[in-house]
Amino acid sequence: MIQPAADPPPVHAESSVRSRPAVRPVALVTGARRGIGRAIALALARGGFDLALADIVVDDDDADRTLTEVRAAGARAALYRLDVAALDAHEVFLAQLLQAFGSLECLVNNAGISVAQRGDLLALSPDSFDHVLRVNLRGPFFLTQRVAREFLARAEDGRYRCIVNISSANAFAASINRGEYCLSKAAVGMATRLYAARLGAAGISAFEVRPGVIRTEMTRVAAADYDERIGRGLTPMPRWGEPEDVGRAVAALASGAFAFSTGDAIHVDGGLHVQRL
Ligand code: NAD
Repeated sequence: MIQPAADPPPVHAESSVRSRPAVRPVALVTGARRGIGRAIALALARGGFDLALADIVVDDDDADRTLTEVRAAGARAALYRLDVAALDAHEVFLAQLLQAFGSLECLVNNAGISVAQRGDLLALSPDSFDHVLRVNLRGPFFLTQRVAREFLARAEDGRYRCIVNISSANAFAASINRGEYCLSKAAVGMATRLYAARLGAAGISAFEVRPGVIRTEMTRVAAADYDERIGRGLTPMPRWGEPEDVGRAVAALASGAFAFSTGDAIHVDGGLHVQRL
């Protein structure tokens, strides 16, 4: 089910300007209702993008707040109900988006879930495995495939286009109480490199952003544990990450400042990935 939850913006004309369009470029952010997705949407709005916001939940105060804040930052914005795991909804969703916005320059695959319950790797169930991989890997992979075809069809207009995948420090750090999440995020890293290799000839970049411990609803259940571990030196920069830390990094990548880069993994983790002795 796809539901534009607010007035879609009018179609705007294609620009003939090379690399930086005269009209505002358009970004699609999945999981944009709250947390990291909201911060990414806001940073992109401040960076000059119009915003197609998508989330599996669109009818709560969080969703209203995101839409209001993004519009207050100067973006034309619409919020769509989309379950990224529902592959059969992607085609219609993108058709609606393109009709409303006229173009798409940036896809941010941010929607993701943690495990329903942290537990022993040796008790991990096939159902949880399948569910987490469907949402975190299979859905974004095929949404990207569909968007990539769209990007390629329009590549001749010279606009900068990119894909940004939000993975995690768990793309490399093994957490044995949520193995399925780690597997999904490690595979998002390879999906990023695959799309980078496939789309580079058309000047389209694909990036992976690996957030560390970021203060959102997702990490609230483990907040006391992370407080303690950060206090004991988990990260060289001794603080929680904020969603805005990730938002600023994604906006920088989407701006075109890294247009000759692709396939990179950017850590937004206060140095968590730095091995120390
Ligand atoms: P969050 O739970 O606050 O927000 C996730 C958003 O995605 C929610 O609005 C949710 O409704 C939406 N969503 C969930 N399933 C969806 C689906 N099937 N289709 C569409 N939307 C869906 O979590 P967050 O912390 O903001 O996480 C955002 C991304 O960042 C996730 O991919 C997560 O794995 C990743 N991440 C988070 C952290 C962290 O510390 N918070 C660290 C590393 C990576």
